[in-house]
Amino acid sequence: MNCIFCKISKKEIPAFIIDESDNFIAFLDIHPHAPGHSVVIPKNHYENFFDLSEALGNEFISFVKQCVNLLSKKLQTNSFTFGVNQGEIAGQTIKHFHFHIIPRFPNDKGGSIHSVVYNPPQESVEEIFNLIKK
Ligand code: AMP
Ligand code: ZN
Repeated sequence: MNCIFCKISKKEIPAFIIDESDNFIAFLDIHPHAPGHSVVIPKNHYENFFDLSEALGNEFISFVKQCVNLLSKKLQTNSFTFGVNQGEIAGQTIKHFHFHIIPRFPNDKGGSIHSVVYNPPQESVEEIFNLIKK
């Protein structure tokens, strides 16, 4: 499979690796939107969030926390935007699951998560709730 993130995890191509565990690797994004903008990937190829097992998902969160602690300490910020572009509609360009960690700084010209999409439903919140829960 011609997957650039598989190549990074197998060390076939270089990356600025900031942390690594048995199952995950974190490296600096090649087109950073902020100092320390990093991506965290599972070493094995999973296309998206659905494909991660429950056990791997739990392990993933603790690895992400470790990376965030490192970035927070070294870059001197407690503010971050975390995110996954899942699927083409959401802007996923590399089909190997990855989690963005974007450190935030004063006046960095960024927005909040709310600026990612604006598609308020025609239905009421209660109708949407019923759709999901009933
Ligand atoms: P997306 O699929 O839109 O969530 O984003 C993929 C991210 O991977 C982009 O932010 C790219 O800049 C980043 N990226 C692509 N190739 C590399 C690479 N070789 N090393 C580090 N980051 C990369
Ligand atoms: Zn891959």
